[in-house]
Amino acid sequence: PVPTPGPGELLLRTDAVGICASDLKCYHGAAKFWGDENRPAWAETNRIPGHEFVGTVIAGDDTTLTKRKLSLGDRIACEQIVPCWECRYCLEGAYWMCAVHDMFGFKGHDGAMAEYVLVPAKALTHPVSADLPGQVAAFAEPLSCA
Ligand SMILES: [Zn+2]
Ligand SMILES: [Zn+2]
Repeated sequence: PVPTPGPGELLLRTDAVGICASDLKCYHGAAKFWGDENRPAWAETNRIPGHEFVGTVIAGDDTTLTKRKLSLGDRIACEQIVPCWECRYCLEGAYWMCAVHDMFGFKGHDGAMAEYVLVPAKALTHPVSADLPGQVAAFAEPLSCA
């Protein structure tokens, strides 16, 4: 289905998405994602995977586009963590340590292994040149994460 962006959200048409080692570990049932006798599950079932992606903005309200300095047709990459912006870490500016730790494709938000992906208002986005091939641009997340 094609998601409908709400206030603050963007709809992307996926250009490319990487397959991360963590996607494979999650697929194969690793306890880090699905829990075991010592820890609860972190990943959610029925999530569309895919957190290393680039896409083209095809919908979003004017306020959101202006705030993010984007136009329809622009390409963006998203940071994999979608910060809560309310926990101790987010308030200190260390959003990558967010206590809630929502992440595209695992928890809180569907990822980009689909034709369309919804970008939540809390997500961090970065512009990507139209000239960069999608399969190259999708490396923005693993390279910056490393
Ligand atoms: Zn990854
Ligand atoms: Zn947080």
